[in-house]
Amino acid sequence: MAIFERVENGGERRHYVIKSPVTLEPIGEFDSGSSADVKGAVERARKAQGSWARLSFDQRAEYLWRLVDVIVERQDEIIDCVIAETGKPRNEAVAMEVMAPCMQISYYAKRAKKFLKSEKRTPTGVMRFSKKIALSYQPLGVVGLITPWNGPVALTANPLAQALMAGNAVVHKPSEVTPLSAVLFEDLTRAAGLPDDLYQVIQGDGQTGADLIEAGVDKVSFTGSVATGRKVGEACGRNLIPVTLELGGKDAMIVCKDADIERAADGAVRGSCFNTGHYCCGTERIYVPEQIYDPFVEKVVALTKELKQSDTGESDVGAVFWDRQMDIIESHMSDATAKGARVLVGGGRNSELTGYFFEPTVLVDVNHEMEIMQKETFGPIVAIQKVKDEEEALQLANDSDLGLSGNVWTRDLEKGAALAERMETGSVSVNDISVTYGVAEAPFGGVKSSGVGVVNGEIGIRGYCHAHPVIIDTSKRSKGMGGYPYTLEGAKTMQGFVKRIFGNRFLRKLVV
Ligand code: NAD
Repeated sequence: MAIFERVENGGERRHYVIKSPVTLEPIGEFDSGSSADVKGAVERARKAQGSWARLSFDQRAEYLWRLVDVIVERQDEIIDCVIAETGKPRNEAVAMEVMAPCMQISYYAKRAKKFLKSEKRTPTGVMRFSKKIALSYQPLGVVGLITPWNGPVALTANPLAQALMAGNAVVHKPSEVTPLSAVLFEDLTRAAGLPDDLYQVIQGDGQTGADLIEAGVDKVSFTGSVATGRKVGEACGRNLIPVTLELGGKDAMIVCKDADIERAADGAVRGSCFNTGHYCCGTERIYVPEQIYDPFVEKVVALTKELKQSDTGESDVGAVFWDRQMDIIESHMSDATAKGARVLVGGGRNSELTGYFFEPTVLVDVNHEMEIMQKETFGPIVAIQKVKDEEEALQLANDSDLGLSGNVWTRDLEKGAALAERMETGSVSVNDISVTYGVAEAPFGGVKSSGVGVVNGEIGIRGYCHAHPVIIDTSKRSKGMGGYPYTLEGAKTMQGFVKRIFGNRFLRKLVV
């Protein structure tokens, strides 16, 4: 049974019914925006953006502080909505969809002014005698925000706060799997008094997302799968608009021989099962040297067996958010077991529950011939491979076309940092599951097929701006240097200058 079903209505707006992954009962419906709806939203956003961009940073921040107030006041509504839509445990709904958004919005409300402050600079070289640079960070205009279903509020609030504080308007196409939390979030922004049309949600499917890119937006902020990311990148390239692509991962965990086994085992289970494994930086592959393999696996098995799974919300591992993901998890599992992997805990759907629940699972004897070690599984599976040593672990960790994040576990922090440097990923954690997205100061982005561009912090918010230099000539000359009329004598003088300055290693360093 599909979690969202298209109901033919013969109209331009496709109609969908949404079901809970926990009860499999309908919980809502929506119409996808037509391409005319999308265009209309972008036009309205553009009008709203003009006056928004003229506000000071403090004035913009005031709206965002109010949004945080509203989130805090109405947190139970958010939690209930996200649980109904995704079946995640209450603790995860609070941490990811309430606390993280409060932190993200507050961070940019407080710091955007510093990150985007206009500055005066003096150029280097000979230019320093006659030019000044006035650098400002101008908003791009209307940002098209396209988001996935695994963190519906957090993955909206974070880019939204950055785009707004930078002076942009936002048209948001949320995932068709989690449309209800997007409607609620839009309502929260209204309750916070955000100007009309500054942030608009357009419900819909992939076609709606594609329409948004063609509707005249000035940037696309996309979070989602590699396959869709490629299409989005192509469309943005065709339209010559900037894009950030935050895509899937296949994060590796390297456990060193000297790791604190108890702590690493806890990290393995948390990293693999958090958010039902639907975490872009979730741990998907674990490499453990043979010397500590047995005690590590034993501990992981014990911890996994303790995990509670229920449909009450008081659970450690929640539902799989929708049927397509369940299909992927099951297909990776059967491929692995057919090729010799052994299940030590769990291994299949939880038959005691009605909804889409996959048991927290421990899988061993895996290898890189198996899909579960190659493709993003996005399920609550702790997949452990025995290796000879840390070098082999590193080589296997890097044997992937994805490179989002990863983690290294060791008591020797220097060694951990050195191994982390050699991991071919956008970021790495030492002695923790991947937390980069939650650390606002850390630039976040994938390498290889895991993404294009970085988000978050000072670099991230500047990505929502055009860095606009104005070069001011401060000399009193009546004519520009090097201008007309050209003479051969002038060219000769210039050549002499190049030879004297750039032909001399000391002087060339001095002038630039
Ligand atoms: P998805 O690519 O299927 O969908 C993402 C969004 O794109 C949805 O809103 C969808 O409707 C829209 N879309 C689909 N086709 C489109 C098109 N042709 N043009 C424009 N938009 C289109 O991804 P998903 O299944 O919703 O999300 C899960 C994926 O997201 C996983 O791979 C996960 O790793 C990744 N993810 C990455 C990060 C990160 O920060 N790197 C964070 C969260 C999730």
